[in-house]
Amino acid sequence: MRRVAEKRCVYPGSFDPVTNGHVDIIERAAALFDEVTVAILHNPAKTGRFPVEKRMEMLKKACAHLPNVRFDHFGGLLVDYMRRSDCRVVVRGLRSTADFESESTMAQLNRALAPEVETLFLPASPLHSVVSSSAVREIALFGGDFSPFVPACIVQDVQNAFDPKP
Ligand code: ADP
Repeated sequence: MRRVAEKRCVYPGSFDPVTNGHVDIIERAAALFDEVTVAILHNPAKTGRFPVEKRMEMLKKACAHLPNVRFDHFGGLLVDYMRRSDCRVVVRGLRSTADFESESTMAQLNRALAPEVETLFLPASPLHSVVSSSAVREIALFGGDFSPFVPACIVQDVQNAFDPKP
């Protein structure tokens, strides 16, 4: 088999909003690859709580300490984005067996569509394995303290999105 050393990877997701779990995966990917592209997926089936521009702004703030991380957004199939970006490694995080089931299905479908693209799974750190964007949104919606689950620099952004307008 031809061996190719890959220097770049893409970490795709909704990041609606970015959590400490995402940042942990990004930091670990940034230590493994020369360049990590965090790519926000526009999913027509999920409108999302935060506009893509706001998600990007929060991601940039949360990753300001990582010089080899860049940010992008895309619509359509991940494999088409990978080909356009000339990149062959997708990084995804795994929190649970439920994640494993859905993520392995997605990885196999992507492999069928683009055999040159590999999916690399990083296990969630135990500290973050129950953290999700949807939990953060739900806690914020009902006025709970979501701050332990997101980077400190975006707490106010998330709060503002859920505060009742005067
Ligand atoms: P998606 O809607 O594509 O699942 P998410 O933004 O929810 O997007 O997640 C992007 C990726 O990050 C997925 O691979 C997901 O499993 C992973 N992820 C989400 N939360 C965590 C966490 N707390 N720890 C590790 N990985 C996570």
